[in-house]
Amino acid sequence: MSDEAQGRPRRFPLPLDKLGGAKAGATRELLMPQRHLREAAADAARQAAPSGLGLDSAQVRQRMVQRLRREGLADERVLQALATVPRHEFVDSALAIQAYEDTSLPIGHGQTISKPSVVGRMIAMLFGGATASRQGQLGRVLEIGTGCGYQAAVLALLAKQVVSIERLKPLHDKARQNLAQRRHHHVRLIYGDGRLGHAPAAPFDSIIAAAGGEDIPAAWLAQLAPGGRLAAPMAAAGGRGQVLVVIDHQLDAGGASRFVRSEHEAVLFVPLKSGVM
Ligand code: SAH
Repeated sequence: MSDEAQGRPRRFPLPLDKLGGAKAGATRELLMPQRHLREAAADAARQAAPSGLGLDSAQVRQRMVQRLRREGLADERVLQALATVPRHEFVDSALAIQAYEDTSLPIGHGQTISKPSVVGRMIAMLFGGATASRQGQLGRVLEIGTGCGYQAAVLALLAKQVVSIERLKPLHDKARQNLAQRRHHHVRLIYGDGRLGHAPAAPFDSIIAAAGGEDIPAAWLAQLAPGGRLAAPMAAAGGRGQVLVVIDHQLDAGGASRFVRSEHEAVLFVPLKSGVM
């Protein structure tokens, strides 16, 4: 039986006093910062299930949704979708414990999964578009910045079709894996530069960006259907962070396009970049 199985601390493979330089005490601290796996797992279980519930439980998501509702997210369709998608399955298992906190989390390659409150807020904004509010659903949606696919899964519950573009191949592949298990047949994942939109599937009733640039790319406006609405983070004037921008494509009496734009609260998204990697 190993030391560990008997509950004794496992000996570090290198004799500490044989290591040159630092004193043994200091070296011990440097080399053994981790707790035993068993202790860490026990801690994790305590944190994950404060009231005996695992992350798989719908009640954990309901608690998140109640919090978002208290904080002002009022669209019940969006809250319902957030209550349905198991966010913990879209992040690394080591971070799953934090999946129902209102926080962005790393998903690798310098990118993050967006905060649930921001996902909810932006999708609720899309519901205010002319076509979406008439139809009671988001219609044909273009998402720029698939990441791990979480928001695409939420959108899938609220839209007729979702086309989602990611410029980083490993994340595109990860999202494909994450979504395959969910049988979302009306979600199309595209590996490409989202600044160009996706002309073959245009026009879109709703466009949502999960990365913020200096401007709103012309292709997005060109691919936004009349009656459609776009919501995206964008650099604020004067280099002061990012704000949410909403643009509605309206037709005037003569049938000419007008793009009506409004600016909303400050946000913090990863940068919208050009090209693919
Ligand atoms: N939608 C994700 C958020 C991912 S973070 C979620 O559900 O949480 C934003 C993503 O946008 C990153 O993965 C980043 O690689 C991607 N991105 C940035 N610029 C892009 C571009 N031009 N085209 C497509 N994806 C882009």
